[in-house]
Amino acid sequence: MDICDKAKLLEQQQRNIALARALQRPPQVQQSINDEAVCEDCFAPIPAARLAVLPRANRCIDCQSIKERHEQG
Ligand SMILES: [Zn+2]
Repeated sequence: MDICDKAKLLEQQQRNIALARALQRPPQVQQSINDEAVCEDCFAPIPAARLAVLPRANRCIDCQSIKERHEQG
């Protein structure tokens, strides 16, 4: 095994670790106040105040504003 093989192996291992971490949802998601009201982009709980205004809101304010900015071009 030469140094290139070692580097490749190491890179692969680190990618797997990073992927495993990325796939783990943050703990807050499980403690969401409103059963299913989590942002579909970042999985943050959507505040009740936002749901009161927009009952069908499926994104948090941050993600919604990013999306709207994208849609407006
Ligand atoms: Zn969000």
